Amino acid sequence: MTVKTAQPDAVRIELGRGEIYPLLLAGRFVAGEATHMEVINPANGRGIGRVATASQGQIDKAIVNGRKAALAPNGWATRLPHERAAVLYAIADDITRNVDRIAELQMYENGKTRKESRGQALSAAGTFRYYAGVCESLGEEMPPARGDYFNITVHEPLGVVAALTPWNSPLTMAAQKIAPALAAGNAVVLKPAESTSLVTLALADCCVAAGLPEGLLSVLLGGREVGEGLVSHPRVDCISFTGGTETGQAIARNVADRLIPLILELGGKSPHIVFADADLPAAAKAVASGIFGGTGQSCVAGSRLFVEASAEDEFRELLIAEAEKMVVAPPDTPEAVIGPLASFAQRDRVESYVELGLEEGARVSFGGKRPEGPKYAEGAYYLPTILEGLNNRARVAQEEIFGPVLCMIPFTDEQDLVAQANDSAYGLASGIWTGDYKRAWRVARGLEAGTVWINTYKQLSIAAPFGGFKLSGLGREKGIQGVRSYQQSKSIYWGL
Ligand code: NAD
Repeated sequence: MTVKTAQPDAVRIELGRGEIYPLLLAGRFVAGEATHMEVINPANGRGIGRVATASQGQIDKAIVNGRKAALAPNGWATRLPHERAAVLYAIADDITRNVDRIAELQMYENGKTRKESRGQALSAAGTFRYYAGVCESLGEEMPPARGDYFNITVHEPLGVVAALTPWNSPLTMAAQKIAPALAAGNAVVLKPAESTSLVTLALADCCVAAGLPEGLLSVLLGGREVGEGLVSHPRVDCISFTGGTETGQAIARNVADRLIPLILELGGKSPHIVFADADLPAAAKAVASGIFGGTGQSCVAGSRLFVEASAEDEFRELLIAEAEKMVVAPPDTPEAVIGPLASFAQRDRVESYVELGLEEGARVSFGGKRPEGPKYAEGAYYLPTILEGLNNRARVAQEEIFGPVLCMIPFTDEQDLVAQANDSAYGLASGIWTGDYKRAWRVARGLEAGTVWINTYKQLSIAAPFGGFKLSGLGREKGIQGVRSYQQSKSIYWGL
């Protein structure tokens, strides 16, 4: 298949101090027309470049050109599935070739360690590869006939998908939206969080270099005003948003009159449950990495630990030993297990929540402050923190902190435990550690959460649907459902 790329001599996004980075408009890297934003490295507070944000005219152009590229006669939507898949495979290959450059940008932009950033870049490549495979293998459906006719259900693209991503895991979130939306035959206009503009552009430069046809992808930089301009646009056909619950609710109100499909992946306050009969050392490792990994800035972070009272003392000791192993250090050093928070504002938020916990009567059994020493002085660092002595109704146990803060709560009764675990506005994820398989199943079925892990935590497969119950969201991403979320079905009946 021949595809026309906008810029055959692909632009590559590299680190270069003081530079003003472009944005991607309908497949072409061009200068943003609105105000400038500074990109700050949270490990040392220094600027690593500037970006100019998108104007309303650029938002319009991205949407109009995207629609043409997807839905015009001979557009992307009419390309045979194996042709679309070929482009998605090429994108995966290009991301893989550029993994170090992409990972480095993420490390300097949001403070994730080099190792985690590399893993996420490879995971983004895997997402494109998976959806290439799905694209080639998904067919139309023929439901069984119930009369003298046959009936076929076809799945058609929606048109232009507006995708909005948060700053905590910009690569995996962007790939999770771009790959299935393209596989489904749509164009995508993506707005990343302002603090992760460069790494998202680097992902996009792989799409351009791999031969994604002109017009199909835009990456519009900017803050809330660009997000609002995008989701308010009358020609957008679907919104796929990952971010905070309040923002998701504002977007849902914004689109209510237009009734366009909406996918919302929102916040969480996930319960991580440890019964006394569990493999306690393994559970302690998973509980520590489940909340402190990524400096706690993960939507599925297990931030409420429910531990059976009879194992509380033993488990605390194991957990603290694991927390001590999670070395906080500058993300580009080999010893770093966790880096700084992604921004100074996020570190302030974490600090004020720990203060609130103390006012509510908590005691700190680990951390509870910034690490000390010259290597931390200029960065947005905070230690892994364990709070005890509060119940599940405390604000620090109810509100999403989005940082390395764990509330440890003892329990004695299984039914009461399930009620407490479910006593949350959120329902994104959960974890259970027990040696009793019947109890594991019972509790798993009782939990109000889109993901339940049993004797493991944070294992994620691109092939399994992901999404939230309650205020954690609406709709599902990933898996085959991930493609169907970006299509609408049409049932055609043919009388015999
Ligand atoms: P956020 O809600 O502040 O912003 C997310 C995106 O929306 C950004 O691109 C932002 O510029 C844009 N935006 C803000 N206001 C807008 C508006 N009114 N209209 C349109 N766009 C708007 O979220 P964040 O602080 O970047 O990310 C942290 C949150 O994301 C946490 O709550 C976390 O749990 C959640 N998250 C959820 C998942 C999931 O899969 N469920 C994954 C990662 C993060």
